Amino acid sequence: ETLLKVENLYKSYNRNTLVLQNVQMALKQGEFVSIIGPSGAGKSTLLRCINRMIDPTSGSILFDGVEMTTLNKADLRSQRAKIGMVFQHYNLVSRLSVFENVLHGRFGYKSTLQGVLSLFTEEEKKLALEILDKLGMKEFAYKRCDQLSGGQKQRVGIARALVQQPKLLLCDEPIASLDPNSSKVIMDHLKDISETMGITVLVNLHQVDVALKYSDRIIGLNKGSIVYEGIPENLSNMA
Ligand code: ADP
Ligand code: ADP
Repeated sequence: ETLLKVENLYKSYNRNTLVLQNVQMALKQGEFVSIIGPSGAGKSTLLRCINRMIDPTSGSILFDGVEMTTLNKADLRSQRAKIGMVFQHYNLVSRLSVFENVLHGRFGYKSTLQGVLSLFTEEEKKLALEILDKLGMKEFAYKRCDQLSGGQKQRVGIARALVQQPKLLLCDEPIASLDPNSSKVIMDHLKDISETMGITVLVNLHQVDVALKYSDRIIGLNKGSIVYEGIPENLSNMA
């Protein structure tokens, strides 16, 4: 039932400063967990270590039964395919359509040319449209991403991650650039993804109130160390 187990994780970008110190964390399948903490606490670094965008300095990351820190390139690629990423600044290709951005999430940015839809099978396109529909974005499928609002762009970002059919969704400050209404839409979708699709969702947030409202569990990170871990009810009592 445990999908991700992080043990004794340390990270330093340069020799003198530890950005993560002895981080321990376990996530169950379908769990919705928030990481809260001030800017510079190491939240983003932790997510990037988990999907091996960056290499941890030491420690263990067991994901879906496989140790991530010692993988070769081919195995790393297949493990990463099971991890979807959602970013604060969406990381969409703005001159491509919504549909193209979403398809590329699964299959990589295969071509820099427009008119790339012919690269994908009917089944792949059907899946992408179903996911866009679930996120209320089907009617925007053929719009260019640069014509969308921030909240709409983030729904495309989530759709792109979901076409990978991931087991884990890592969201790095997904609502930090959004207004309250769009933030609620995005958080409601992320919650629904964990509850109805059984996907584990790990979200970096700096808004404690949002973490309290949506999380099964909250992890507090400060100066690279976990300083709190528990259910929202306990954190509310503490505050
Ligand atoms: P958070 O996401 O909680 O704001 P980060 O993980 O982005 O925290 O950053 C943690 C610390 O690591 C900060 O002091 C930041 O300046 C430093 N840091 C982040 N990325 C790098 C990098 N690529 N090189 C050197 N230092 C970095
Ligand atoms: P910030 O905290 O300001 O978003 P980061 O150091 O987290 O800065 O990231 C630097 C840039 O790289 C950002 O534009 C971010 O969106 C992008 N980025 C970070 N992680 C990934 C990733 N896994 N894949 C693609 N782009 C990424």
